[in-house]
Amino acid sequence: STDPIMRPEPLPEDRDRALRPQMLDDFVGQAEARANLRVFIQSARQRGEAMDHTLFHGPPGLGKTTLAQIMARELGVGFRMTSGPVLAKAGDLAAILTNLEARDVLFIDEIHRLNPAVEEVLYPALEDYELDLVIGEGPAARTVRIELQPFTLVGATTRLGLLTTPLRDRFGIPTRLNFYTEDELNLIVARNAVKLGVEAAAEGAREIARRSRGTPRIAGRLLRRVVDFAVVEGNGVVTKELADGALTRLGVDRLGLDGADRRYLQLIAENYAGGPVGIETLSAALSESRDALEEVIEPYLLQQGLIQRTPRGRMLAQKAWTHLGMAAPKVPGQ
Ligand code: ADP
Repeated sequence: STDPIMRPEPLPEDRDRALRPQMLDDFVGQAEARANLRVFIQSARQRGEAMDHTLFHGPPGLGKTTLAQIMARELGVGFRMTSGPVLAKAGDLAAILTNLEARDVLFIDEIHRLNPAVEEVLYPALEDYELDLVIGEGPAARTVRIELQPFTLVGATTRLGLLTTPLRDRFGIPTRLNFYTEDELNLIVARNAVKLGVEAAAEGAREIARRSRGTPRIAGRLLRRVVDFAVVEGNGVVTKELADGALTRLGVDRLGLDGADRRYLQLIAENYAGGPVGIETLSAALSESRDALEEVIEPYLLQQGLIQRTPRGRMLAQKAWTHLGMAAPKVPGQ
């Protein structure tokens, strides 16, 4: 049967859910954000009020959605989830807002992609828990004001710079999420192995952590793939040798870069002598959207010191030449 319900394996979302930390104490890393959230959550609970609106920003897969869910659970309130592109009309948002119960958490992913008409509706809702709805059209149109229950908006974005200033200003708690350290990822991989019921040697877990691009979502995905190799080609145990071999075959190199990362670096090295080269040029040459380059590929390359952003475009750093096994061209006059 092709009925997804009949598949023996849990669906990907269910597996993902199984790996999600449930409470703040289970959430590894982001120590500063976690410590602050703990205070704000406890304060809101003690005052019996809705927690302040919170904005999480940072690259994909670092735990924005997970933290929003944890907030609702720790606050003991309901959780509703939607995203910027899904809210096409003002009415779509109004329907969600009017259905919230007191102190609920509403999570809006990709909040930088909200339609301006929807964003307008959001302002009074965030500020005064009020909704100004226009009913009817033309001369018969009139505005009705609807009182909302106090609620907490949790916004998530990979592109803080694309948020309008008025929207940004309405978040009392802006929180940046950073790439995870190898030690933090190591702990996440080890815990995920336990949750998945697989045996991972300490150095096996560490190899996966080292090559996870600083990102828990990637750590979870790589662990599952390595387990597949361990089951089929090993004795089921994730050892260092097995992890190394599997990750190399998956195209994940020693720095955790994948094929798309290496294509990006190689293009600048081979076609532009190391840069500077503009983002639009890179986007066209790689057939990747500018957004994908700026949101997914570049943040990690920048954090690793492989590239630099200059006013004239992107440039390779020495570390990238070394990683590619190439010599940087001599600059005339140096
Ligand atoms: P984002 O919303 O930032 O894209 P998610 O919250 O969806 O990221 O997290 C992606 C995956 O990584 C989820 O499976 C989640 O369980 C896992 N994850 C994220 N942060 C952590 C963490 N600190 N500890 C353990 N797992 C994490």
